[in-house]
Amino acid sequence: MDFSWNEEQQAFRREVIRFAKEELNSDVVERDLKEEFDWEGWRKCGKFGIQGLPISKEYGGSEAGILTTVCALEALGYGCRDNGLMFSINAHMWSSEVPLLHFGTPAQKERYLPKLVSGEWVGVHAMTEPMSGSDAYSMRSRAERKGDRYVINGSKTFITNAVYADLVIVFANLYPEKGAAGVSAFIVEKGTPGFTISRKLHKMGLRTSPMAELAFQDCEVPVENLLGKEGGGQAIFTASMEWERICILASHLGGMQRMLETSVSYAKERTQFGQPIGQFPAIANKIADMDVRLETARLILYKAAWLKEQGRHPLREASMAKLYVSESCVANALDAIQIHGGYGYMTEYQIERELRDAISSKIYSGTSEIQKKIIAGLHGL
Ligand SMILES: Cc1cc2nc3c(=O)[nH]c(=O)nc-3n(C[C@H](O)[C@H](O)[C@H](O)COP(=O)(O)OP(=O)(O)OC[C@H]3O[C@@H](n4cnc5c(N)ncnc54)[C@H](O)[C@@H]3O)c2cc1C
Repeated sequence: MDFSWNEEQQAFRREVIRFAKEELNSDVVERDLKEEFDWEGWRKCGKFGIQGLPISKEYGGSEAGILTTVCALEALGYGCRDNGLMFSINAHMWSSEVPLLHFGTPAQKERYLPKLVSGEWVGVHAMTEPMSGSDAYSMRSRAERKGDRYVINGSKTFITNAVYADLVIVFANLYPEKGAAGVSAFIVEKGTPGFTISRKLHKMGLRTSPMAELAFQDCEVPVENLLGKEGGGQAIFTASMEWERICILASHLGGMQRMLETSVSYAKERTQFGQPIGQFPAIANKIADMDVRLETARLILYKAAWLKEQGRHPLREASMAKLYVSESCVANALDAIQIHGGYGYMTEYQIERELRDAISSKIYSGTSEIQKKIIAGLHGL
């Protein structure tokens, strides 16, 4: 077993941290308050090559393996304090670029991937509906084939990046009588008649990552806009979730490292009762707990990524990584706030935002309860 990054990966990691610290950290507190997306940061990430990490070179990507991608995203999350920007980039990569790469026709890949990779376009994945979340395939959205077109009707909610969507991969049921087997994925471009961004949504955390509801009313797309096969939505969603559950929290590992370092420094500097608070076992134990959670979270996420790099389908490990990293991130943010006392609760110290941002990770890409359901299901329960 080799637990170390190779020299090339280490050098890349350093370069990503430098880039993130220098280019992505301006005005995060203000942008969080105003719910502002960092367009400039998004484009800089595109230019640096973040959005193209796992994408083939012919479409402008760098064809990095999943481990190198995880290494880079962790470094990005360490250097960049804007967790909302990290989340928007990850949602774009795992739920629009990767499905296009694996299920798109050559024409679809050629048309969309270069723009998504460069940061010129924003990609969106629309599955969740007001009445179907965890039970995603019970969706009410419908598609119907009419000659050389599909007509889509339905509404989607909680859609990340939707405010700025250039391209939406929308799931709708083409053959409702077949249940989940009728669910299919369609590509809808901005400006398509019948497709509207119906309402911007406001969130507790990840406030710099835009979110909206989408409406499709007799929205017609050419048959060429089917992604994968008719009834192939399940396969696309499952593949996309496997990537997403492994990779989306890699940036959180970097954030957890940052929170740990900040908490250690504070525990050494802040004195009460004539000594640094880190000398009190109650505080030192919190630091140890944070470190253990971070190390365990890293191992579980790296293992899932390693299995995927071997060409395996690590359903169990991907669910475990999603579950454990998100729960640990929330626990570490709570400890970091407690270590910082009243200052941790204040906006300007940028610790309370970490907690608000972390909580959503227990919900998106399948809730913690759903990850446990998947893991227990593999034991026949
Ligand atoms: C920040 C954020 C970004 C998101 N981005 C997107 C996006 O880009 N695209 C998209 O399509 N969706 C997105 N979502 C939606 C997300 O996928 C759903 O919120 C999630 O799947 C849960 O669905 P729900 O909110 O309807 O909750 P529900 O499914 O109604 O669940 C409510 C509660 O019941 C529990 N529960 C449900 N079923 C079971 C069960 N069988 N066993 C045990 N407990 C159960 C859940 O765990 C939860 O605690 C996003 C959500 C968030 C918070």
